[in-house]
Amino acid sequence: MKLDEIINLDKKYFMNTFGNRTPVCFSYGKGVNLWDIDGNKYYDFLAGIAVSALGHSHPKLVDAIKQQAEKLIHCSNLYYIESQAKLAEKLVNNSCADRVFFANSGAEANEGAIKLARIYFKKKGMPEKFEIITLEKSFHGRTLATIAATGQDKYQKPYSPLTPSFLKVPINDLDALEKAINGSTCAVMIEPIQGESGVNLTSVEYMKGVRKLCDEKGIFLIFDEVQCGLGRTGKLFAYQHLGVEPDIFTLAKALGGGFPIGALCAKEHVASAFEPGDHGSTFGGNPLACAAALAVLDVLIDDGLVENSEKMGSYFMNKLSDLAKKHSTIQDVRGKGLMIGVQLSIDAAVEVKNKCFEKGYLVGSVGKNIIRMLPPLIVTEQDIDGMVETLDSILQEYEL
Ligand code: PMP
Repeated sequence: MKLDEIINLDKKYFMNTFGNRTPVCFSYGKGVNLWDIDGNKYYDFLAGIAVSALGHSHPKLVDAIKQQAEKLIHCSNLYYIESQAKLAEKLVNNSCADRVFFANSGAEANEGAIKLARIYFKKKGMPEKFEIITLEKSFHGRTLATIAATGQDKYQKPYSPLTPSFLKVPINDLDALEKAINGSTCAVMIEPIQGESGVNLTSVEYMKGVRKLCDEKGIFLIFDEVQCGLGRTGKLFAYQHLGVEPDIFTLAKALGGGFPIGALCAKEHVASAFEPGDHGSTFGGNPLACAAALAVLDVLIDDGLVENSEKMGSYFMNKLSDLAKKHSTIQDVRGKGLMIGVQLSIDAAVEVKNKCFEKGYLVGSVGKNIIRMLPPLIVTEQDIDGMVETLDSILQEYEL
C-alpha cells in the first residue's frame, strides 16, 4: 500500500487518539535503523520509547520468537509454562525481587503493584491503609487507577471522577513527602527517572531519605521502572544508581523487545500477600511473550548492552553538553545512560523534532521545549555523532 492509502484508512477507521501522526509508515527495521515503505532510511533515537533496547530485529530475539511460535503460542495460566518459569527465575536472579507476576503492559504491571500494596495491609488487618503517594509530573499509565496515580492533569481531566486515594507531592522534596504520609498511606510510588515529563531525575539523597521514611512508617516503596529499567540508564535497573532497593518494582517496554509483556516484581515479604485467586491475567506471561523476554534479558546481560548503554550514554551526554556551549538555545542537558532530555530555551521542541525527522532522525518531544532521546542500547559513537551533527545543524537555524 501507498502511504496516503494507509493514512486514509487510519483516518477513517482508527479512533483518533494519536491525532496527526508523523506521516511515515515503517516496514523494516535492523539494528538502530528503520526503513519506511518507500525505502527511506532513518536512525531511531526513540526506540519505540525505550522499547527496542536490542535494536530492531535482533537475531536472537527473532529466533526465540520463531522457535516458541512454532511450538506453542498460548495455553493458559491454569497450567505451568516453561518459558514463564525460566523468565521469573532470570528476573529474580538479576534483581532485588524474590517473586514476579507477568502482565501485558506497563500500566497493567502498575495496577498489579497498587493491588499488591493494598492487599498486603488488608491481610495484615490494616484495611485503613490504602492510599498511594506519587510524584507530580509522574506517568504511570492510562488505565483508570494508573491515570489517578499519574501526576499530570492532562491525562486525568477528561476522566473524572478519578479513582480516589492517590496523593501527589513534588519530586525531590522529602519534607513534602513526610507531611503527606498519614495513617491511610500504604505506599509511595516513584519513577527513579521520570520519562514522559521530560527526563527528570530523582536525587540519590532524596531516594535514600524516601527509603528511610518508608521503613520508619512501615509502608512500601514502589519503583516504576517501566521506562527507565532494563539497561536504559546504564545499569540493569535504575534503582541501582540510587543505593536503595524498592519493595516492589515494575517493568514493561524493553522487557519484550516489542512483544507486549510487563512484570510486577516484589520482595518475598510483600509478594506473599498474593494468594490463589487474588490476581490474574489471560495473556500475561504467555509462552511467546516470556520466550521473547528471556531472549531480551540474555542479550542485555550477556552481550554487554547495559555496559554499552553506560558508555554511549556518557559519550552522548558529553557531546550534547559541548553542543550546549555552542548553542544558547540549549538550556539543559540531563539524563542517565541512554535516557536523555535536552531542554531548549525556546518553545521549538515540536519543530526541532520534525526537522530531525526530515533529516532521517527519530527523536521525541515533551511539551514545548524538551527533546527526548532514547536510542537502542546497541547505538554506536558513529550513530551518536550523526545525531549530534543533525541537531547542531538544526539549532544553527535558531541562532540570532
Ligand atoms: N510507567 C511509565 C514510567 C511509562 O513511561 C509508561 C509508558 N510510557 C507506563 C508506565 C505505561 O506503560 P504501557 O503503555 O505499557 O501501559
